[in-house]
Amino acid sequence: MQHLWAPWRSTYLKNKEDHRTRCIFCAAAASGKDEETLVVHRARLNFVILNRYPYTSGHLMIAPYLHVSRLQQVDEETVEEMMCLARVSERIIEGAYNPQGLNIGMNLGEAAGAGIEQHIHMHVLPRWMGDANFMTSVGETRVLPEDLTKTFAKLSNAFKHL
Ligand SMILES: [Zn+2]
Repeated sequence: MQHLWAPWRSTYLKNKEDHRTRCIFCAAAASGKDEETLVVHRARLNFVILNRYPYTSGHLMIAPYLHVSRLQQVDEETVEEMMCLARVSERIIEGAYNPQGLNIGMNLGEAAGAGIEQHIHMHVLPRWMGDANFMTSVGETRVLPEDLTKTFAKLSNAFKHL
């Protein structure tokens, strides 16, 4: 804990705070650099983005443009589009990865396992028999067989050809 008077330090702490509280979903939505931010598809009310720390290759997240922490804070139109995008993502992931199953779901709040709890997002990811449990692995970095740039090219292309 720092209690000494040091003017430079308050600036440092403020920057640190800004960095920690900055929302990656809002930043990605506002940025025009989709390849850098891994946004594979933009719909009217939601967008689809790759998880930078995926549980399995092809791990997508669907998030509304609105910065809200609960599903009940978005309108029905947004929820409907989100669900439609989940269905489209299911089709795309099955086409690209031929998984044995999929997880589709949301973690609301830190206690529920949300890595970024201030902005809701729906996970859609392929699953295979024998891979580890989804709930215990959210937020962890994993070694993957596929490079993210490869995943991005594959999935953004699939969304374009819907
Ligand atoms: Zn946000």
